[in-house]
Amino acid sequence: MIPLVDLRAQYRTIKDEIDEAVRRVIENTTFILGEETERFEEEFSGFSGARFCVGCASGTDAIVLALEGLGVGPGDEVITVSFTFFATAEAISIVGATPVFIDVDSDSLLMDPTKIEAAITERTKAIVPVHLYGQPVDMQPIMELAQRHGLVVVEDAAQAHGATYRGNPVGTLGHAGIFSFYPGKNLGAYGDAGCIVTGDPELATWLRMARDHGRTGKYVHDFVARSSRMDGIQAAVLRAKLPHLRRWNNRRAELAKMYTAELRDLPNIQLPQIGDAGEHVFHLYVVKVSRRDQILAQLQARGIGAGVHYPVPVHQQPAYAGRRHAQSDLPVTIRASTEVLSLPIYPEFGAVQLEEVVAALKFALAG
Ligand SMILES: *Cc1c(COP(=O)(O)O)cnc(C)c1O
Repeated sequence: MIPLVDLRAQYRTIKDEIDEAVRRVIENTTFILGEETERFEEEFSGFSGARFCVGCASGTDAIVLALEGLGVGPGDEVITVSFTFFATAEAISIVGATPVFIDVDSDSLLMDPTKIEAAITERTKAIVPVHLYGQPVDMQPIMELAQRHGLVVVEDAAQAHGATYRGNPVGTLGHAGIFSFYPGKNLGAYGDAGCIVTGDPELATWLRMARDHGRTGKYVHDFVARSSRMDGIQAAVLRAKLPHLRRWNNRRAELAKMYTAELRDLPNIQLPQIGDAGEHVFHLYVVKVSRRDQILAQLQARGIGAGVHYPVPVHQQPAYAGRRHAQSDLPVTIRASTEVLSLPIYPEFGAVQLEEVVAALKFALAG
C-alpha cells in the first residue's frame, strides 16, 4: 500500500520533538492561545516574511476573518476561482459576500489574471487568488488590477507554505494571506489550525480581537466577533515542525523532479507546467490524463493512493445550486476537473515507492 500522504511516517522522524511539545502544553495548561501560540506566530511570521501573523482555528476561518477585517461583507462581490477547495468560496459566502468565479489558466490551473477585468462590477470589493497545489499565482497583474480598481487581495496560501513569487513569499503579496495547518498540508497541525499574515498593523490588531470574542481585555468586548482561536497543543506541534519545513519542501521538489523525469516521455499525460515566476512547494503533484477515472481506479486497485483535487468545481457543488454566486464561462475549470490526478507525494516518500507508482501509472496509461 502506498498512501497519498503518510502522517505516521513523518511523526516517526520527529517523535521526540512532538511528544515533548505536547507534554509541555499539558504541563503548563495553556490550552487556548497563550505563550505557545504567541511564539508560533512570531516564528511563522519570520518564516513567511510577513510582519504580522495571527493564529486562528482553521484555514477557512482565516479567510473569513481576513475578508471581514478588510471590510468585505453583504452586498460585496469577491472574484475567485471555482477550481479550488470548497472553503475558498465558502468563506466568501460566510461573510455575506457573493463569490464571482473566473476561469483558470490551462497550463498552471491557477487564476487567469486576464479574466479578472471582465468580472469587475461596481460591487466588486476583493480578489481571492489561490496558490493551488503549492504553486504561486501570477500575482503582479492581479495586484496592478486591484490597485487600479481599489480592490483588496486576500491570498489563499492554504497549500503553499514557503512558496515564493519573484523572490517574495506567498501570503505577503496581497493585503493579507491565509494559511491552513490542516494535518495533511505541507505544515500540518495535529488537529485544525490556520493563520492570517499581513503587513498591516491595524488589521493585525483587529484580527487578534476578532478571533477571540472581540476582546480588548479579559472582561471587555468591543464588538460581537467569533471564537476562532489557535490552541496551545496545535501551536506547540507546529513549532516543533516549522524548523523542518524548508527541508521537507525541498524533498517534495526533489520528488517532483523525479516524477517529471520518469513520466516526461509518455504519451497521453500532461505533467505539471511549472512557471518560472517562483518556487512551487508541491503540496500536490498533479498530472492531467484523459480516462482519468479508469486510471485512478486501476492505481487504487494496485494499492496506490492517488487522488483527485478536485473532481467537482465549486460552482457545480450542490451548496451553490441555491446560493448566490456568479460566474463567467469556465471551460478550463470544467475540463480540468475531469482530467486531474494527484500522485502520492510527501517528504518521507522513497525512491522505491516512486518507482512503483510510476510503473503502475505506465501500465494504466498503456491499457
Ligand atoms: C485546506 C484549504 C482551505 C481550508 O483550510 P482548513 O484549515 O481545512 O479550514 C482553504 N483553501 C484551500 C485551497 C485549502 O486547500
